[in-house]
Amino acid sequence: MDAWPRIVLHADMDAFYAAVEQRENPDLRGKPVLIGPNSHRGVVLTASYEARPYGVGSAMPVAEARRRCPQAVMVPPNFELYQSISQQVMDIFADFSPYVEAISLDEAFIDMTGATHFFGAPAEMGRKIKEAVYDATDLHISVGVSSTKYVAKVASAHDKPNGLTVVPPSHAKDWLAPQPIRRLWGVGKKTGPKLEALGLYTIGDIADAEPEYLSHHLGQSGAHFYNLAHARDPRRVTRGRTAKSIGSDRTLSKDVSHKDDIVRHLHRSAERIARRVRAKGYVANGLRVRLKTTEFEMLTRQRKFSKPADTATEFLKLATTLLDEFDHPGPFRLVGMTAFDLDWQDEANQLDLFETGRDRDLELTLDEVTKKFGSDTVVRARDMTGHGTVSKNGVNLDYLDFVDGERVSSPGGAD
Ligand SMILES: [Mg+2]
Repeated sequence: MDAWPRIVLHADMDAFYAAVEQRENPDLRGKPVLIGPNSHRGVVLTASYEARPYGVGSAMPVAEARRRCPQAVMVPPNFELYQSISQQVMDIFADFSPYVEAISLDEAFIDMTGATHFFGAPAEMGRKIKEAVYDATDLHISVGVSSTKYVAKVASAHDKPNGLTVVPPSHAKDWLAPQPIRRLWGVGKKTGPKLEALGLYTIGDIADAEPEYLSHHLGQSGAHFYNLAHARDPRRVTRGRTAKSIGSDRTLSKDVSHKDDIVRHLHRSAERIARRVRAKGYVANGLRVRLKTTEFEMLTRQRKFSKPADTATEFLKLATTLLDEFDHPGPFRLVGMTAFDLDWQDEANQLDLFETGRDRDLELTLDEVTKKFGSDTVVRARDMTGHGTVSKNGVNLDYLDFVDGERVSSPGGAD
């Protein structure tokens, strides 16, 4: 049995947006489907596997894609849906390891080092994760497993769709060798031809070259490529790159001006957001309140907490303070709140649990009740005043955006 200094898994949803649309709409199954804007401008975001033999792929201009595959069905993207499925999949990954690094809506690194005891050998881990995702979502992922992020990522792309490629560390260099140089991280349209002009066509060519020769021709990238070609990549899977903000924007069915009414909406948002912040194991360092006037002007006020926070009580307190800083009389048609600058709870060592203990205890209890009985079960007495419960009011747009991934929803206007 091979010694695995680390077990790094890269998981990638297959033709994610297109696969989701085919899942949602049986008429699209087995057909070439392009996800993209319904106009000739813009580019294809994802092409289903049925469209790919026509030479259509993501980032291709829509006009060109339609020329190559006129029978393809064009479907506009539904990011809200992709985001919620992405979250579902990331949560499944989190069942396997606390170290999940989402690098886009449909891709993540998972560090499984030390988990053979629970999930078996690396190949078995890959199978189990694929199965768990398919069982929950009816969607396929491709998985690569090796000892470095780099090799795991190349491996997941090796056998798409629905692939599983395990590259033991002792074979990693040999496995990489025949791959084309464009599989090296950092080789793009510029560097590719440059390397080929030097007679370097495969990753093995780079591995066999003299490091000095590579540095001479490629500068600092020389050593980088040389290391990758030898399957050396010290980068660890980090958890810190999942979400940078969690927010909730509510477009109201009835415009509001009175501070009490706005506070009631903020209160509801604070509870939703705090619940999600805690469920992800985050704490927030800052809070933003947004109000949209009936003239569609978006007004924003934001501030840092004096200490990282994760309770609705703290969120609402700062939000109420911020509310006093708006110098517009209203009426407003949207009330929004966003917790930003998120950290992992266990890394925010300043979190003063003692000071916020009572509020936290109560809210953690409510988390449990909500988990068991659904989110409308618990309505605090102060939400019942005024015009019924706030939850039934207007359109609610919760969102979560990724640092290195796509913006998954644009909750109206600024930022
Ligand atoms: Mg993908």
